[in-house]
Amino acid sequence: MEAIAEQLFFTLFNTKVPRVLLKADNPDFTIVIYNEAYEKVTYLDGRDITGISLWEAFDPANAGGDGAKLLMDALVTASKNNKPVHMPSFKYDIPSGHPGINVQSWWQLEIIPVSGPGRAASYLLTTINNVTDQIENSTAILDSKLREETLNEQLEAINKELGNKNEELQATNDELNTLNEKLTRSENDFRMLNAELEERVIARTQSLKESYAKQQALTEELVTSTEEITASNEELLRINEELRISKQQKEEFLFIASHELRTPLTTIKAYNQLMQLTKDEIKRDRLVIRTAESVERLEKLINNLLDLSKISESKMLYEKEPFDFKNLVTECVENANDRYPTHEIVLEQVAEMTYTGDRFRLEQVIQNLLSNAVKYSPEANKVLVNSWVEQYSLIVSVRDFGIGIAASDKDKLFERYFRVDHPTLRIEGLGLGLFISSEILKEHNGICWIESEIGKGSVFYFRLPVGN
Ligand code: ADP
Repeated sequence: MEAIAEQLFFTLFNTKVPRVLLKADNPDFTIVIYNEAYEKVTYLDGRDITGISLWEAFDPANAGGDGAKLLMDALVTASKNNKPVHMPSFKYDIPSGHPGINVQSWWQLEIIPVSGPGRAASYLLTTINNVTDQIENSTAILDSKLREETLNEQLEAINKELGNKNEELQATNDELNTLNEKLTRSENDFRMLNAELEERVIARTQSLKESYAKQQALTEELVTSTEEITASNEELLRINEELRISKQQKEEFLFIASHELRTPLTTIKAYNQLMQLTKDEIKRDRLVIRTAESVERLEKLINNLLDLSKISESKMLYEKEPFDFKNLVTECVENANDRYPTHEIVLEQVAEMTYTGDRFRLEQVIQNLLSNAVKYSPEANKVLVNSWVEQYSLIVSVRDFGIGIAASDKDKLFERYFRVDHPTLRIEGLGLGLFISSEILKEHNGICWIESEIGKGSVFYFRLPVGN
């Protein structure tokens, strides 16, 4: 029976299921026997582990993790309780058959205690299942699942973050858009403002230029006006002065005129009374002649006054016709010689020609020059008269050897009322003769001028144009 039992044991033991029989000699758990499947699954590769402790065969130091403890606990539990223990998967790394290299291994064990004569377990029949591949697969799956989950979570977190970032980005974008709009608006506003400003600056510059030009023109106008006003003022002052002088001259003239008129009148009156009283014929004749002289003088004065008024009102009439000029001059000289017995009037040369003009008025001019020549040379006794034709002009000169005329007075002699003041000499006159003469000469397109030296005498000239 014992032989059958042994054979049965080996038949059941040597299957393709890895099995090992351990002695229940806690803590060694000596390896009693193991089958080929066990040899293969534990990579013994010819290594004989029979009779050595399980821990010697598979060093717990290489097991890694708590695999060795779990195995020990299970073996002890099965031994003590003498009850089978089914160990769930645990990790226990074993040598790979290549020196120094361990293989990561997961195992499932079923430990069946085999009782000896007593109740305690003598052996532990242990069936081994290498589940490394399943565990690794499931671990890999788990890992990949875990990784996937982690990745998903990470992805979700990243997505969330991305979403947040996206929202932030969107917000920033919106803000940027708003800003951009504002900026665009501001830029447009700025451009418009700038354009407006430029336009204003141009308009202002233009208006400034115009104002400046206006101001310039006004300033120029003002300067011109001021100059004109100054000139007008000066002119007014001059006219005023002229008026003042003229008024003064007029007053003086009136005084002189009334005096000059009264003198011959008084003489006439006195002679007339004498004539009435005297019975002496010779005396009376003399008085008649003297009265005639005063009448002539009075007539001359009145005629001068009448001429002045005619000239002032431009009413002087001229009767121009051809006449013998030599005859005129000769007649004037002869008359003067009769009238002024104190002087010899010498006609040195005379132009023989027919001249067309107002004979009566030109005679008046020559008579005035001869009268003055005598009047203003009381110390002399000669007057020289010449007339000649020169370059289409008829020239007449009257020279005296009298008091002469100062250079400063020469130009004024032909003005109305002008008389040189001679305090030592009492010479009658109204200051009209030369003025009237120059007006008569002007009417004949003639001119007059003077050469004179104080104390030596004067030469009065006049020139009349004659046809060429
Ligand atoms: P009047 O009646 O005073 O002589 P005139 O017009 O003939 O007036 O002359 C003006 C002034 O010119 C005179 O008052 C005199 O002072 C000056 N005058 C004229 N002729 C002579 C002359 N031949 N010699 C010097 N002075 C003269």
